[in-house]
Amino acid sequence: MSDRTLRGIGVSPGIAIGPAVAVQTTLPEVPHRVVPRTQVEKEVRRLRAAVRDVKRHLEMLRERAEAQAGADEARIFDAQILMLEDRQFLGSVEALIRKNHLTAEKAYEYQALEVRDAWAATTSTRLKERLADLNGVTIQVVRHLLHRGDLVAAGITAPSILVAHELAPGVTVQFERDRVAGLVSEEGTRTSHAAILAHSMGIPAVMGVAGALERIGTGTTLIVDGTRGVVILDPTGEEVAAARALDVRRKQIARQAEEGAGLPAVTTDGVQIKVRGNVDLPEEIAAAREHGAEGVGLLRTEFLITGHTSLPTEDEQEAYFRRVGQAFPGHPIVIRTYDLGGDKFPAPFRAPPEANPFLGWRAIRVCLDQPEMFRVQIRAILRAAAHAPVHLMIPLVTRLGEVEATREIMAEEAEGLRRRGVVAASSVPVGAMVETPAAAVMADRLAEICDFLSVGTNDLTQYTLAVDRSNARLADRFTPHDPSVLRLLKLVAEAARAAGKPASVCGEMASEPISAFLLLGLGYETLSVAPPALPLIRWMVRQVSREQAMSAATAALAARSATLALDILRYALAEAVDLKLIDPDARLPGGRPSASLPS
Ligand code: PEP
Ligand code: MG
Repeated sequence: MSDRTLRGIGVSPGIAIGPAVAVQTTLPEVPHRVVPRTQVEKEVRRLRAAVRDVKRHLEMLRERAEAQAGADEARIFDAQILMLEDRQFLGSVEALIRKNHLTAEKAYEYQALEVRDAWAATTSTRLKERLADLNGVTIQVVRHLLHRGDLVAAGITAPSILVAHELAPGVTVQFERDRVAGLVSEEGTRTSHAAILAHSMGIPAVMGVAGALERIGTGTTLIVDGTRGVVILDPTGEEVAAARALDVRRKQIARQAEEGAGLPAVTTDGVQIKVRGNVDLPEEIAAAREHGAEGVGLLRTEFLITGHTSLPTEDEQEAYFRRVGQAFPGHPIVIRTYDLGGDKFPAPFRAPPEANPFLGWRAIRVCLDQPEMFRVQIRAILRAAAHAPVHLMIPLVTRLGEVEATREIMAEEAEGLRRRGVVAASSVPVGAMVETPAAAVMADRLAEICDFLSVGTNDLTQYTLAVDRSNARLADRFTPHDPSVLRLLKLVAEAARAAGKPASVCGEMASEPISAFLLLGLGYETLSVAPPALPLIRWMVRQVSREQAMSAATAALAARSATLALDILRYALAEAVDLKLIDPDARLPGGRPSASLPS
């Protein structure tokens, strides 16, 4: 990889080529100025007028987002409007103006910095996203008060790639759609609002690119590969041609994959692979079904709590689980019990502040310590299981005892339901998520007491490599292709096979064709993937043989780094699907350029 190549997180797929425009998204310098007592009320009025104007602007962006991306995406601006109108916040700003005779802009800046400091230490992804919203709103209000006009100066006349420290969602819709070819930012993760909006609008974007603003000046030509999370500066003619060819090929494959959505996912040597969907929110059920998901391999249940003021009832949960079951008749629905804590902070659930939340009170630990909440969920699962093949899956297992305790609770609740004459199953298959090195090395023992195992590679990668999965600065270290993670994946597949229990992978890596190919080679026959990735993964399965996948996996396991393992896999998969594309930065250990599947 050349020093003209920057890496980050690909948050919105596709390729963009064009000139960079550096966007100033930091707070402008605000002069410290006090006003005479007689003008204090005028400053308060100026503040209120600015809030009104910025609100109008946000509403305009909201409308534009609705037209260009859809109603759900437009709601992102509601979060900013809510923040803008927060009475407590504005009350504090007004108090600062009145008490300290500050200008409206200085008082606003002070108060925003105070809130930012209070939130800065958080590891909660949700709060980090709110922080981005707060920054976006603050910059707009302060710029308005300073008469600096709109955030990104006009003057973008040709399709350009916006490069910023941090992108507020508004940036994407501030311009005509055809002026924004791509986005690059230093901050931001897959779940940030700007990323979600870029994805919906089909704008290729790479975030978490450390040092982007320092390296990329306005006018620099860039190739942005939002699929692979790569930015190439000042590309050569050859690189531009290769990127264009890759783009065309990816689009062809996507079309083929869509067309074959109804075909079974069977390898060329006849191995049937089950490809299920990961469903986080009810809105994803339809997409998973349309894209051919054979059931749900990971039904996340945290949304039932987050954003609500009270815990969901047994009836509410049962209704949701049944609804999911009805959408996939005859296919399993793997319900993951609450994975609270870590970066998931539900309002009704007062989690104590912790120095290391990812190593703290989370997931099954919380559930076993709060049996009343856990029992409600287990009863709902047992009741739904009377109508659909529902499974129960336990997150963040580190001890055998956690599975045994869950089984005990399930048996007690089943007995209670039976005694009360409630229609419910007497038990459901119980599986452990392998998300920690502890669970991976104990996989043989876990397989003995579980009905299935499912590897959560997002957390398994985080805990194996000691790399915070939400830390943009460490994005290039966060890779499930690291030899250490590959060894654990192999260990788990073998342990499950030896015990005669199915093992699947439901972490994000299963949604990438190259990684899914590796997983087939390691012996996984069930994958659970993000709904939009279903057609491509099913297409990939139909192009390859298990034998090809196995020899690629063996070679990847022998690699000494993630980069080499990926190169090997890319090359092997490209051979398997007979692609003739040359990927300039994928090189085999011997330096031979490798053909590449558009990854
Ligand atoms: C995982 O960790 O891989 C996983 C699937 O769970 P989550 O991403 O919800 O933590
Ligand atoms: Mg996890």
